[in-house]
Amino acid sequence: MKLVLATRNKGKIVELQRIIAEVIPGVELIGTDSFPNLDDIEETEDSFIGNALLKAHAVAKATGLPAIADDSGLSVNALNGAPGIFSARYAGTHGDDLANLKKVLSDMDGVLDRSAAFHCAAAFAKPDGFEFVVEAKLLGKLTTRPIGEEGFGYDPIFMPDGFDVTTAQMRPSEKDRISHRGTAFRALVPKVLDTL
Ligand code: IMP
Repeated sequence: MKLVLATRNKGKIVELQRIIAEVIPGVELIGTDSFPNLDDIEETEDSFIGNALLKAHAVAKATGLPAIADDSGLSVNALNGAPGIFSARYAGTHGDDLANLKKVLSDMDGVLDRSAAFHCAAAFAKPDGFEFVVEAKLLGKLTTRPIGEEGFGYDPIFMPDGFDVTTAQMRPSEKDRISHRGTAFRALVPKVLDTL
């Protein structure tokens, strides 16, 4: 079975292939890189759910295939939910994980309330306009310095509640079991199966 995944991010494709293959063995996720004529999709909505739906619809319409998309990020309570939907470009340059993480640490310098959450909205859309979306989060706390080498983005500064390691110190399969993306996609995939 083929599904288009509305991202060019290779790390995300690998992570989602792993999560989804556990639920539907044999599913093939095709990244939007396989469709060279597809324009980049601008994330113009003001919520994770809005942006995930926008990306899924745009890709389903352009490719004529069912598409799934996610939008995710880190929300820090003491920063009123920032970086939020701007997580990938918090320090200015899209995808500069190190600069983004350093900016959060600097914004949070000396702040005692370090509670935060990773959010993920996972959306499914068909070319005829059919859609659904689910959202999940992983609660945790920010560390005061980066720890760990695994993962990506803000993983080295995020310690999930109930753990004394960051998500960058977890094995990928261990992170998948508790992560916002793991939870959202495990909820999404059976619904996708029902509609295909
Ligand atoms: P998106 O590709 O627009 O969904 O941007 C997601 C951004 O949120 C990434 O660039 C990371 O900075 C951050 N992010 C989302 N999920 C995670 C995660 O599991 N670990 C660390 N950072 C994450």
